[in-house]
Amino acid sequence: MSDQNDDRHAVPGIAHGRRLHPASIAASAGRPTDPGAPMNTPLVATSTYIAGGSIGYAREGNPTWLALEVALGAMETGHSVVFSSGLAAINAVLDTVPAAATIIAPDHPYSGTAARLHELEQDDRLQVRRVNMHDTAGVIEAMDGAVLVWLESPTNPLMEIADLRTIIDAARSAHIPVAVDNTFATSLGQQPLELGADYSIQSATKYIGGHSDLLLGVVTTRDRGLAEKLQQRRTLLGSTPGSLETWLALRGLRTLPLRFERACSNALDLASRLQSDPRISYVLYPGLPSHPHHHIAQEHMRAFGGVVSFVIKGDAQQAELVCDSTSLIVHATSLGGIESTIERRGRWAAEHADVPPELIRLSVGIEHVDDIWLDLDAALTVALGRA
Ligand SMILES: *Cc1c(COP(=O)(O)O)cnc(C)c1O
Repeated sequence: MSDQNDDRHAVPGIAHGRRLHPASIAASAGRPTDPGAPMNTPLVATSTYIAGGSIGYAREGNPTWLALEVALGAMETGHSVVFSSGLAAINAVLDTVPAAATIIAPDHPYSGTAARLHELEQDDRLQVRRVNMHDTAGVIEAMDGAVLVWLESPTNPLMEIADLRTIIDAARSAHIPVAVDNTFATSLGQQPLELGADYSIQSATKYIGGHSDLLLGVVTTRDRGLAEKLQQRRTLLGSTPGSLETWLALRGLRTLPLRFERACSNALDLASRLQSDPRISYVLYPGLPSHPHHHIAQEHMRAFGGVVSFVIKGDAQQAELVCDSTSLIVHATSLGGIESTIERRGRWAAEHADVPPELIRLSVGIEHVDDIWLDLDAALTVALGRA
């Protein structure tokens, strides 16, 4: 986020006086425009700058980060600040909350967010009021006296959906800022800022990077003052991204629309096949009409994402065996890469006790859906027998 950088690019995301589609923004925003400039912002590896320019030291800024920030900001019509990881981005936002203030948070957020909130509570840094995000009235009721509403939708890995429109409207009426962890939906699947949220956060490690080769996070906000505050957090906490990572992430962003579209269509197809499989107890995917909040997801989501969670008719050991028995699908944590990955979430001690031990999270990649299904079916057969 920087004035100077915005000037170096044509107005990002706008052409012929109208806003481009997000796919066009992903392919074009964040390029140099000066005659003779390279078409892609180079990877600038430096820790310092020759005196007299706008940036003095590399903890304050880097041209490669700025190019990525321009592109990500344009995707949501805001100002983006990139961080060394998704969790660093989350911490920068939490760091802006005044000491001992109360925030609202989902009862099942991403395990890293949950662990950090527990730490902050234990240190009396913040008070956390945990809410069931499916209970919209309960979330709104809990807002009294809070200074921040933290949302994540869909949640990792239970795929819970918050009624973003209603909750954000209520928080705005009460003048309480809202932050949304948008990692699972990306800017293509839903636009929290357009719905009125103050912060849209993503782990760029996942879909934006898209190739499982980097860690990065981003916060996007409409308010320039908030973006500057976050930049200051980054500079003083030292949660600065590497230039290689931002360069790779911008390259990844160029194909995000294609990758995400394929991941979403594969995910819906696989979710439907799993749902009619007798070895599966239930499937959690917001694109399925059977998802308890499918109708709410449809209200604010343009795509339902590439992650499918499902619970097998078996025990934790059999769920582990499923994950160990794939050959195309990689048995690994994380999500949002071009390759399909699978894991039993309960294998992590930090995962919430409400996550069933036999729940498997599948991050669907861009392989041919028939090959993914064949692999999954074979692994289910090893652990649970034929369908
Ligand atoms: C992975 C993830 C994060 C943390 O991002 P890192 O880049 O791993 O630090 C935060 N929120 C969600 C929903 C995630 O899936």
